[in-house]
This record gives sequence, C-alpha cells and structure tokens, in this order.
Amino acid sequence: MAHAEMQELVRRLLTKYLNEKGHRKTSERYLILKTIYDQEGHFDVDAIHHLIKSQGIHISKATVYNTLELLLDAGLIRKHQFTNKAAYYEKNFFNKSHDHIILMNEDGELENIIEFCDPRIENIKKDLESYLQIDISGHDLYFYAKKKK
Ligand SMILES: [Zn+2]
Repeated sequence: MAHAEMQELVRRLLTKYLNEKGHRKTSERYLILKTIYDQEGHFDVDAIHHLIKSQGIHISKATVYNTLELLLDAGLIRKHQFTNKAAYYEKNFFNKSHDHIILMNEDGELENIIEFCDPRIENIKKDLESYLQIDISGHDLYFYAKKKK
C-alpha cells in the first residue's frame, strides 16, 4: 500500500473513532497522527513534540500527551513502558508484529531499541492457547540487554 493511502486509512479510522466518542476533530489530533505515521520507530512525548515543532507548528506538550492517550484508546498507536522513565509510542498499523530488545548502556540508561520477529513466539502462544484452552489477545515481550564486552 502506498504511503498516502496508509495515511488516508488511519485518518479515516481516527475520524470514525472521534465521531463515535463524540470528541472534537481538531487539526492537532490529525497532525500528531500523521507525524507518527510518517516516521519509523519509537518515540517518547518529547520526540513527537519536537517533530511537530520542527514543522513550524506551535503545540503544547500537554496537547501532545493527551492526543497520544486518545490515539492509544483508538488503537492507532502502541505504547511501551520500556524503562521506568518516559513511555514510548509507535504506530500500530502497517507495522509487522514484532518484539523488542532494550539495549542499555553502562549507566543503565536506554541506548537503543532493537525490533525482532521470531515465529517461535507465535508457536508458544498457540501451544498455550491449546493447552490452557484460552484465547490470547496480545502480549508484550521486552528483552533487556547490554553489549557484550
Ligand atoms: Zn516496535
């Protein structure tokens, strides 16, 4: 799917959500959605705020934060609490199902986030569903790591 089509699709999903919930269709909400879907990777509130400001648009950090919570509720983005510091966000559509390795530096700070996809995790899920007679609706798997010396 072309990038413009993806943008149009998530835009429509946001409109549907805002209509259903009776929320206002503000330009900021669409702008933040577009900004996230224009990028690859994971962002904290500060990074998204910076990306918006770099387009010459003034927006408060509180608006960014509130909009992210709204996009999260709409299922348009995913939120990760990789460390006890700021939460990270990423798009939820057009993003292959994946898990994360959180690479920490010597000072115990987040250095990099590595995405990986391993079909064995899907197999574990299927085995558990069958063995326990349950339907698993989602999972979060984070490996915390340091570079080998
Ligand atoms: Zn990710």
